Amino acid sequence: MTRINHMLLGAHMSIAGGIDKAIERGISLSCTTIQLFTKNSNQWKGKTLKADEVDRFIALRKKSGISPIIAHDSYLINLASGNHELRESSIKALTGEMERCRKLEIQYIVMHPGAHLGTGEDIGINNIVSSLNFILKETDGWGIDIVLESTAGQGTSIGYRLEHLGRIIAGVEEKERIKVCLDTCHLFAAGYDISTPEGYEKVLKEFDRIVGIDRLVCIHLNDSKKGLGSHVDRHEHIGKGCIGKGVFKLLMKDKRFDAIPKIIETPKGEDMKEDRINLALLRKMAGQPSS
Ligand SMILES: [Zn+2]
Ligand SMILES: [Zn+2]
Repeated sequence: MTRINHMLLGAHMSIAGGIDKAIERGISLSCTTIQLFTKNSNQWKGKTLKADEVDRFIALRKKSGISPIIAHDSYLINLASGNHELRESSIKALTGEMERCRKLEIQYIVMHPGAHLGTGEDIGINNIVSSLNFILKETDGWGIDIVLESTAGQGTSIGYRLEHLGRIIAGVEEKERIKVCLDTCHLFAAGYDISTPEGYEKVLKEFDRIVGIDRLVCIHLNDSKKGLGSHVDRHEHIGKGCIGKGVFKLLMKDKRFDAIPKIIETPKGEDMKEDRINLALLRKMAGQPSS
């Protein structure tokens, strides 16, 4: 029998019905890692996590072997905003989400760097840096790392250039607590052509030079509904969008990323049949049994 690598592959899972339900959903799809929101992603405040809910979550994770579990922050949070009130709320909200992660023993929280809303990228990046420095001090010793996600550059959002991520990291004092998540859809929509083997290698080289490949702790696998450089963030099923299957084959076989969690955030309905199809396809690309 050939030995099967422990591949870290999973999906963003709903927490409807309780946070531990996300793990149940992950188990039902044979995920080895999952991503989740620790609360409703469209609200500022979440219900307080009950102790028994937390216990169930931690026990089920141990039993399932699903690891790591990665949190994604709320879409309302905007650390780049020049509006003082919005930025204060965002800092409070992100700190609150990190508190939830601490209770749930989740090490990584993925976040979108933010949108400058008209003040310009330089001021936006400065706002992100000072917000992060404040939050990292507040959460010192919590054991939680903040994971900056590369973005498509929709609207005034920052993070669609690798240089943005590099500048944010350069400005942060506690650099060892800042990690990075690459999203294939976002990269492509931002203008990084990863659809060919040459383009893929070129972009990764650039990533390593500007950000550092050792900071990468998560990859979001999404095809893109919109074209190269469109700056539109619309996820498509694997291989069904403008990027095509090539990059996913490369990523699933890339030894450099064996230990990096790969997570799909592709469209899905309640029964998750789309996730099943996408995950099966990715496993096949990796040369593994498809379920
Ligand atoms: Zn993503
Ligand atoms: Zn996206």
